[in-house]
Amino acid sequence: MTDKVFICIDLKSFYASVECVERGLDPFKTNLVVADPARGRGGICLAITPAMKDLGIHNRCRIFEIPKNVRYITALPRMKRYMEISADIYGTYLNFVAPDDIHPYSIDEVFIDATNYLHIYRKTPKEMAVMLMNAVKERSGICATAGIGTNLFLAKVALDITAKHVPDHIGYLDERFFVEMQIIGEIAKNTRES
Ligand SMILES: [Mg+2]
Repeated sequence: MTDKVFICIDLKSFYASVECVERGLDPFKTNLVVADPARGRGGICLAITPAMKDLGIHNRCRIFEIPKNVRYITALPRMKRYMEISADIYGTYLNFVAPDDIHPYSIDEVFIDATNYLHIYRKTPKEMAVMLMNAVKERSGICATAGIGTNLFLAKVALDITAKHVPDHIGYLDERFFVEMQIIGEIAKNTRES
């Protein structure tokens, strides 16, 4: 077992959240789609709000796939604006963590090596994640989710799988999980071979 701690932070429904925040709307209560209707009804929705996901509508659906009875706001994609806000949020992380320990993964995801900061801030990994998520929320109005793991892979899996199913939006996985996965993998392999 290592004692490393990685936190992967994702900005929830990033483009759609930016468009809501700039309109003074709550993405958890507002139906909003980021899409360009000029591309026709087959155009892809680049993002939808959590409120729309709660209706069972899939992220990256096509415009015609949104049920007719659902009323929603359409926001035109503004990539330059999203990049500005992403950079601004990166600046927020820099208030807490050195650039060497921040690894941007995409416009709305970063990995942070939190290993050396837990004792500085006297926080548990989860408390450190909350501190960063709160800073993002305060600065940008955007809700973040986090995955915590003892390596990059586990932090990412914790984010993508575990964080979605817990009320505090923070997933946690350590190497015990990984060992379990390996055992499951071995069993599956032996079953195939026998
Ligand atoms: Mg996201």
